[in-house]
Amino acid sequence: MSETALFGNYARSNLSFDHGEGVWLVAKDGRRFLDCGSGIAVNSVGHSHPHLVSALQEQAAKLWHVSNLHQIPEGERLAQRLCDASFADKVLFVNSGAEAMEAAIKCARRYHFDKGQPERYHIVTFEGAFHGRTLGTIAAGGQAKYLEGFGPKAPGFDQVPANDLDALKAVLGPQTAAIALEPVQGEGGIREIPTDFLRTVRQLCDDHGILLILDEIQTGVGRTGKFFAHEWSGIEPDIMAVAKGIGGGFPMGACLATADCAEALAPGTHGTTFGGNPLAMSVGNAVLDVVLGDGFLEDVQQKGLHLKQKLAGLVDSHPKVLDQVRGNGLMLGIRCVVPVGEYVGAARDAGLLAVPAGDNVVRIMPPLTISEEEISVAVERLEVAAQAIEAKLVEGAAE
Ligand SMILES: *Cc1c(COP(=O)(O)O)cnc(C)c1O
Repeated sequence: MSETALFGNYARSNLSFDHGEGVWLVAKDGRRFLDCGSGIAVNSVGHSHPHLVSALQEQAAKLWHVSNLHQIPEGERLAQRLCDASFADKVLFVNSGAEAMEAAIKCARRYHFDKGQPERYHIVTFEGAFHGRTLGTIAAGGQAKYLEGFGPKAPGFDQVPANDLDALKAVLGPQTAAIALEPVQGEGGIREIPTDFLRTVRQLCDDHGILLILDEIQTGVGRTGKFFAHEWSGIEPDIMAVAKGIGGGFPMGACLATADCAEALAPGTHGTTFGGNPLAMSVGNAVLDVVLGDGFLEDVQQKGLHLKQKLAGLVDSHPKVLDQVRGNGLMLGIRCVVPVGEYVGAARDAGLLAVPAGDNVVRIMPPLTISEEEISVAVERLEVAAQAIEAKLVEGAAE
């Protein structure tokens, strides 16, 4: 593997895949893996979904890219549909999650600048957060392991412990532009922000003229059983970053905002060459056809409940390997007793792909289109993985 011409910045498994079918990934050697990682919450409607394939193929034969120097009707349509289904009045399309967060941060800062308060540029974030890997978003995420060695941390980010109201209140001041958070921390280990806390944050923002930025890059587009996870709490953000599942595997992201906030990014203030091109927009529209279809999100909620119950049973019967289930919808996590990497490896050997996260948690995030039968297969394979580790523990103890 060291023969590769690729940068060595990823710790890859030795698997490579030939094709995908729904929730299944088929390896070059013919082995079939149940994909409970969805390419890190990206393949929202599974692999090779016929509706997405035909949308992509049709658009590919017509027009790929024209730049944002011209009108892009497919993007107008996708933006309108996103606004109709959310709090937002306006949408800016980008190519990734980090770019969506960058746009959100710039939008918030510029909003206060336009209101005559240029000193108001600080963004408050929470420990355990992940907002991306650009120089701005590693400063927002605040994690030492991502900041180390990349020069001075970008200024204007204040971090407080998660769900700590006193710490939050103490850090707010005339410099605060926005509070940014993930409704459920994904990379941080499927850690849910309590509803009460979210509502209090919204209230604090309203009281002090602070903007609320939600990072729904991982939680959005149906992952938790609502179109966006904040709908569970009844609050609405002012600005929101979306990516991952919105393109179903086509790289795209979006920054959604109220009309008032969106106005801050006037002509010339921000831009992207690729963002919102016809190819991406056609696929994005096809994803929404599925996710906003009749009963789809209710179905995700149902399946999520069943899966969570079954995972709770699994945890109960394997206390030496697993100890807690978290999350909702199809954004679930199991905290492991053994090192999470070991469990993810055993699951892979059992024919199931899952994604490790912080706090020793394995993320179970299958395509939202997974069937009840496939959920049963997933739980069986997760059980086989737990048994394999238990067998090793017994062996180890006998030696
Ligand atoms: C993945 C992720 C990002 C970064 O998205 P990229 O597309 O990798 O830039 C930011 N925030 C959250 C919550 C994410 O899950």
